[in-house]
Amino acid sequence: MKDLAAKGAMKKSMETVLPGDPLEPTAEIKTSWEKVYQNMKIEFGEAVFRSWLKHLTLQAYYPQSGTLEVSAPTRFMREWVEKHYAEQVLKMCTGLNEDIKELKIVVVPTNVVKFDTDAGVDGSNGSVAAKPKAAADIQAVIEELSSPLDKRFTFESFVVGKPNALAHAAARRVVESPSIPFNPLFLYGGVGLGKTHLMQAIASAISEREPEKKILYLSAEKFMYHFVRSLRRDEMMAFKEQLRSVDVMMIDDIQFIGGKETTQEEFFHTFNALVDQNKQIIISADKSPSDLTGLEERLRSRLSWGLVADIHPTTYDLRLGILQSKREQLEIDVPESVLEFLALKITSSIRELEGALNRIAAHAEVSGQPVMLETTQEVLQDLLRAHDRRITIDEIQRKVAEHYNLRIQDMHSVRRSRNVARPRQIAMYLSKQLTPRSLPEIGRKFGGRDHTTVMHAVRKIEELMGDDAQIAQDVDIIRRALTG
Ligand code: ADP
Ligand code: MG
Repeated sequence: MKDLAAKGAMKKSMETVLPGDPLEPTAEIKTSWEKVYQNMKIEFGEAVFRSWLKHLTLQAYYPQSGTLEVSAPTRFMREWVEKHYAEQVLKMCTGLNEDIKELKIVVVPTNVVKFDTDAGVDGSNGSVAAKPKAAADIQAVIEELSSPLDKRFTFESFVVGKPNALAHAAARRVVESPSIPFNPLFLYGGVGLGKTHLMQAIASAISEREPEKKILYLSAEKFMYHFVRSLRRDEMMAFKEQLRSVDVMMIDDIQFIGGKETTQEEFFHTFNALVDQNKQIIISADKSPSDLTGLEERLRSRLSWGLVADIHPTTYDLRLGILQSKREQLEIDVPESVLEFLALKITSSIRELEGALNRIAAHAEVSGQPVMLETTQEVLQDLLRAHDRRITIDEIQRKVAEHYNLRIQDMHSVRRSRNVARPRQIAMYLSKQLTPRSLPEIGRKFGGRDHTTVMHAVRKIEELMGDDAQIAQDVDIIRRALTG
């Protein structure tokens, strides 16, 4: 205990001044504290000790009031210890040494020790002189836990269309509502449809409106990473407490928590604790709660208690809208025909759509040529081809059967009645149009039919589409359903 007097004097100006002068603890007091320190491990258990108590350091003793002053490294830690363990610790002290009548916990910050750093304290010689090291201040910890937000992911840059209207409205409600409108908000949808964008838009909007709010935005993977690390470092208590101190908890791609039982367990408890404290929770996933496999039943059902909003696959209109907005943002010169072409062809995800636009913009810049439809097709050749491959005959059969209210078996059956045969022909036609499969391959997929049957079907439907508006419309609807 070097410089104790100096430290004590310094502290006096920051903390309440206690009666009498602080003295360097006598050898007797020191020994008592050391014993208490060791006993705390037994009394509270190793885990609690490591998370909260091992950082306590003896600072001073005020003989006049019998006050033992120990320090915690952060305010958060001090409050926690005070609330949960101080009474017991004092009893232990008094039991060993009657002169100790009061316990005072002060904050003596150490040089910034991040939650992240590996500066472990072994605590074994846990004693008066042990240098306190610990988790950083809670706000910093949450900031550090949180994944960084992408500045581009705002409400302003989010194009609203039919497929995402519900999710968008729900997200706005969460931001604007003075109280918690639903808990949790569960957003789900396929890859690249805007879940992360929407989540981060919520986070940015909340922190703009209410900067004091502690927002934790984490991918499920990162959540697991921190979880496992805390477990390994015996910092579980601190980790839990950190999670539970946030105002808004957002976990992106929760499907990745599936299968890891302990993490799920912890997540579940955190979830409940936060809901109990009326804190907002926002979750995203690639599937609805009921379809999330690998999740414990009670967690799954808990997730659907609030509002479940899905983001549907994009429509042509939304894709075009996004491309137009993106063109404006990027300030690039791209003709409408190119945007329409992209919106028509690239239907899988918005991420791919953006990628395609970026690519042709880059190409135009490098080549010095204006963007045109022909060059676009060339530049995106591989992408477009890969894309066309994606639709399978199975999918087509399913969609067609769905559209006409048939069973999928009807696609393979030999039944020839018109109400089955015509849809089957449409499915064959679409298979030819939308997949790279050959006529014999298609025939095989339709109950082992001959390639001439397929060819006939293709011609028939082409012909009918010219004459029969109903058929033309049906084919168009199914095609759209398949391509986006
Ligand atoms: P997800 O998380 O669902 O996989 P992202 O949120 O990462 O998808 O979105 C993929 C890309 O598409 C991002 O660059 C995002 O900005 C963009 N995006 C998605 N939806 C929209 C939208 N409605 N308006 C504008 N951009 C969008
Ligand atoms: Mg995402």
